[in-house]
Amino acid sequence: MADVVFANVCKSFGVFNAVQGLDLAIEQGEFVSLLGPSGCGKTTTLRMLAGLEFPTSGQILIGDQVVNDVPPGKRDIAMVFQSYALYPHMTVEENIAYPLKKRGTPKAERGDLVARVAEMLQLTPLLQRKPKQLSGGQQQRVALGRALVRDPKVFLLDEPLSNLDAKLRGYMRAELVELHARLGRTMVYVTHDQLEAMTMSDRIAIMLDGRLQQFAPPQTVYRSPANRFVAGFIGTPSMNLIDGTIGRQGGDWTFLAPGISLTLEPLVAEATAGPACIGVRPEHVTLGTGPLSGIVQLVEQTGHENIVAVRLGEGIRVTGRAPADQIWRVGENIRVGLDGRETHVFGPGPVGPRLNHPIPAHASALTVAHLPKLVHSTLARD
Ligand code: ATP
Repeated sequence: MADVVFANVCKSFGVFNAVQGLDLAIEQGEFVSLLGPSGCGKTTTLRMLAGLEFPTSGQILIGDQVVNDVPPGKRDIAMVFQSYALYPHMTVEENIAYPLKKRGTPKAERGDLVARVAEMLQLTPLLQRKPKQLSGGQQQRVALGRALVRDPKVFLLDEPLSNLDAKLRGYMRAELVELHARLGRTMVYVTHDQLEAMTMSDRIAIMLDGRLQQFAPPQTVYRSPANRFVAGFIGTPSMNLIDGTIGRQGGDWTFLAPGISLTLEPLVAEATAGPACIGVRPEHVTLGTGPLSGIVQLVEQTGHENIVAVRLGEGIRVTGRAPADQIWRVGENIRVGLDGRETHVFGPGPVGPRLNHPIPAHASALTVAHLPKLVHSTLARD
């Protein structure tokens, strides 16, 4: 059963639409990330769920209760902020116990609950310290402890790791995943960090300009991005996106970009003729062999692999991954291939939909492109 539901939720600030027509059903016990670039509406979405903002229209449900008019304190949620928001004059113990004190939990019971949470988060030796005597990671654990001690139905986390350094962030990511598995509670997590969302979530809700772009498990958004924006946003290095035109050339469906010609399987429907974009992930670009030729523009050595950027046609750059022992030098000529089975075709525009879905039974073959395979690819001027 869905634990949290957004039903056609909109939020405007004056004439500005921060969230538009949001439909989202989060299952009981799921870890869901709201992911997107700055200003896409993810914090506004979380704040509406917390009761700190009111939707302009639509309904929000927690469990089976519409909570639009329910104040934050009555929603059975706990929120952890980026800033930790700890009380500086209170000890760790007092900070964690604070929500229980406010709720009127008897002192003895408070002590037990705080001790249990402190144990779980390895905070027991720090209980008598003040926040300023703690590291960033420890402060974040106290903020988590204060949320955990309330034992809420839903946890809301707003970029809780973004103030930590990279190493500690990695550590805390694993801690949070483990905590989620142990508690089995619904968690809604806001982040602009796609790696964080990919590694922690059961499903990711990707937003842009206040609109939901895709809501799916990490592997699905990676392997089958719903549109060009999602394709480019998920994955490091980013998917190669090449703008061009699909048309017919001597009986074949062809994708043409400046200096590049790719022959597509004939089953790409006629409706897709026109401006389009081809997407190929760096791991599906072969370097050193293939029908395309280019010039190495940039080589980044990460230690376990080399990320190689190649200029193909006029202004077209593709990035591929090479093993660490395969050395390419800037300026040298290189053969390049694209794996046709892993090539996506997107419609025009920044959120152009992916056109190569398998045809659903109810859809017309003319409106949805069939799985296009790159039969072969050549440099147009070869
Ligand atoms: P970030 O990652 O930068 O925090 P976000 O995706 O969380 O971004 P929101 O904070 O939800 O984005 O904001 C979405 C849009 O709504 C932004 O353009 C923001 O400027 C605007 N906005 C948010 N709160 C208000 C407000 N109280 N009044 C006016 N505009 C607002």
